[in-house]
Amino acid sequence: MLVPGSLPQSVIFGAEDGHSPSPSSAQRIQAHPADRPDEKRRNGCTIGRAFEAKVEEIPGAKVDRAWTIAMNKRTFIRLFSAMMASPVISPLLARATKDKLSNWAGNLEYSTDRLYSASSLEEVRKYVKKQHKLKVLGTRHCFNNIADSTDNFLSLKPMDELVALDPEAHTVTVHAGMTYGQLCPLLHSKGFALHNLASLPHISIAGAISTATHGSGEKNGNLATAVSALEIVTAVGEVIKLSRQRDGEAFLGAVVGLGALGVITVVTLDIQPSFLMRQYVYENMPLAEMKEHFDTIQSSAYSVSLFTDWQNQRISEIWLKSRVEEGHAFDATPEFFGAQRATKNLHPIAELSAENCTEQMGVPGPWYERLPHFRMGFTPSAGKELQTEYFVPRQNAVEAILAVERLRDQISPHLMISEIRAIAADNLWLSPCYEQPCVTIHFTWKQDWPAVKMLMPLIEKELAPLKARPHWGKLFTMPPAELHSIYKKLPDFIQLSKKYDPHGKFRNEFLGTNIFSS
Ligand SMILES: Cc1cc2nc3c(=O)[nH]c(=O)nc-3n(C[C@H](O)[C@H](O)[C@H](O)COP(=O)(O)OP(=O)(O)OC[C@H]3O[C@@H](n4cnc5c(N)ncnc54)[C@H](O)[C@@H]3O)c2cc1C
Repeated sequence: MLVPGSLPQSVIFGAEDGHSPSPSSAQRIQAHPADRPDEKRRNGCTIGRAFEAKVEEIPGAKVDRAWTIAMNKRTFIRLFSAMMASPVISPLLARATKDKLSNWAGNLEYSTDRLYSASSLEEVRKYVKKQHKLKVLGTRHCFNNIADSTDNFLSLKPMDELVALDPEAHTVTVHAGMTYGQLCPLLHSKGFALHNLASLPHISIAGAISTATHGSGEKNGNLATAVSALEIVTAVGEVIKLSRQRDGEAFLGAVVGLGALGVITVVTLDIQPSFLMRQYVYENMPLAEMKEHFDTIQSSAYSVSLFTDWQNQRISEIWLKSRVEEGHAFDATPEFFGAQRATKNLHPIAELSAENCTEQMGVPGPWYERLPHFRMGFTPSAGKELQTEYFVPRQNAVEAILAVERLRDQISPHLMISEIRAIAADNLWLSPCYEQPCVTIHFTWKQDWPAVKMLMPLIEKELAPLKARPHWGKLFTMPPAELHSIYKKLPDFIQLSKKYDPHGKFRNEFLGTNIFSS
């Protein structure tokens, strides 16, 4: 049901059980972006690190910096004293913020500001047992209401440590609050690497795997495919361990879990020996060349991203990330299928400064400083934006791209940039790449919700015959029935969720509408 001025059911937050959203929904989606003290704001934005510096000055404090968004100094001191007195779980954290909690992009104000922060497995268990309903918040980078709660949030941000590195088994085990930005340099310093990363390292590992977050590369599965074991606290506070080796189907169902099964507290990831990469960017490839040589282009480097604004029949930028080792090297000729090699670092949105982007121009560097497009410590992407992304089976890729291109006149005025990436098939039940290699068509929109809300159904209508699936963490309007028809393992996932959460403690409006409605 569409409510004028608010989000459609598949992306809205508000009342549960199919009731209309609360009247304040329309205002809430127009909320201003949260200040992000952990990122330097560039590209014409202010650099807002003043309060963060105050946090760092206090010795010994383990303070959740993402949640200092709106605290003034006095509030912080009050909160800090309370945390020192009772560092277990601090409901004060929620009360202390003046503004409402919102997601990273600021397009969604969450439905409660009751946020609790746990720093050990015991604290997680205690809290889960006590609450009737809750959601875990990762780093808040989803654009829809998948992480939203009307009741309680649990943050595992203080649980951000490396648990074990096993060089023999080629695995690393981490606490679930850790981000890729924290893990990767550490891993590299020990001589190891992950197989791939998303466009940004700022996101939590648990939050990323829960939505099947992906990078690019036709031989690379999404980030969840690196998971080899999980520790989860279920609705009754029980601790379960699932591993790829031991638990077969249950494990494959749990990894892309959309936050529905319980609280992930520990994640084990496959690792490989560290490697260096070079990144090259090319400009202005004619669309006809892309159409003619799509497969060759996709296979020309370890990771390939095509950026376009759908104007002038061209791919505006081609980002090629190549491993510096035998068999992977990309031959950086001055021309690449009609595109010209760039002569300076570029941002995917040409008019923005490349300062927040990873190094290009073929300069070799560690894998974790080349696989993402954006550097840790800087604002990724554009900041004030909305995102949508659709996965299509690899064999439908060119047809899907051309279908979107036909909508260029409607899309372009509201778009910042689109990105096209390839991802390998996997066997994770709710992965959009379940048993099929995919190509994704991504849209970074201007933050104009009324316009984007009108455009999504147009794009989805064009892509539906091509079996498109939306990104779980981005905006979409695809009806639940359609989702159910394209995820053949959804009934099994519902059964698995009910096993660990029989009364829906971890369910919210997003899950109720898109997964548990039948
Ligand atoms: C600028 C930007 C760039 C992006 N680039 C990419 C990209 O390149 N590729 C891509 O695929 N996506 C991309 N995304 C989307 C993003 O990766 C996903 O939305 C991801 O899920 C965000 O992780 P998070 O920790 O912020 O999740 P949140 O939004 O905090 O949570 C997401 C889900 O995970 C659950 N969750 C989080 N932690 C736990 C836990 N410990 N236990 C159980 N459930 C948990 C939450 O309950 C929720 O359901 C991008 C987003 C932004 C803002």
